[in-house]
Amino acid sequence: MIESIEGKRGMPRLRPPYVAQVGLFGRPTLEHNFETLYWVRDMLERGPEWFAAHGRNGRKGLRSFSVSGRVREPGVKLAPAGITIQELIDEYCGGMQDGHKFYAYLPGGASGGILPAAMNDIPLDFDTLQPYGCFIGSAAVWCCPTRTARWAPRATLLRFFRDESCGQCTPCRAGTAKALASSPSRSGTSRAGRPVAGDARRVDLRPGPGRARIRSTASSSTSRTNSAREQSLRARPAIHGKT
Ligand code: SF4
Repeated sequence: MIESIEGKRGMPRLRPPYVAQVGLFGRPTLEHNFETLYWVRDMLERGPEWFAAHGRNGRKGLRSFSVSGRVREPGVKLAPAGITIQELIDEYCGGMQDGHKFYAYLPGGASGGILPAAMNDIPLDFDTLQPYGCFIGSAAVWCCPTRTARWAPRATLLRFFRDESCGQCTPCRAGTAKALASSPSRSGTSRAGRPVAGDARRVDLRPGPGRARIRSTASSSTSRTNSAREQSLRARPAIHGKT
């Protein structure tokens, strides 16, 4: 954002220095999101005690959750900070849609990690999700139903980050493409783009926006790739009397 305001291409900056020291036009800069600014007036008019009186599970304040997925009433919900995903679904979203059972959720947007429905009692707030490898981030909560199989959100997220990578960092630029290629498809077999020995596909690792791609240098297809692998497996000698 700061790069854009300065008239440059909107690329991330390496830190340090942090924007609080060297920010917009080289001056110390304080960055806040609009949700914080939104509450300033209420804080001043009603006092911090009013705001702190909200909250659940030991947390304080109110928070906007953008809930999507197979819930009856998706949308932006103003709810107590620290509310659990189950409470959010049941009390603010009317429950899951008919025929859909709660299976997993993204607590903080596409990059905030994914948790199973069995872990539906974790307070959603800053610093409560880190022990589980997640974070609240934008509080864009996605509720995944059972009908959406386990592989689908992972593949969708990997594809998103592969396509949206700005290309500056190698783990992101190349890693997302490779992770997608090695993730299983719906059938449980390797994806078409998986770079395996003998496959004519390769990963384009050149830097650049969205540059990391699995590129086919031949007219291979999923069926051809899988067929070649099946033949390779069949050609292996029997192990412990099994073929
Ligand atoms: S390559 Fe990925 S992780 Fe690195 S700055 Fe770009 S989007 Fe962020």
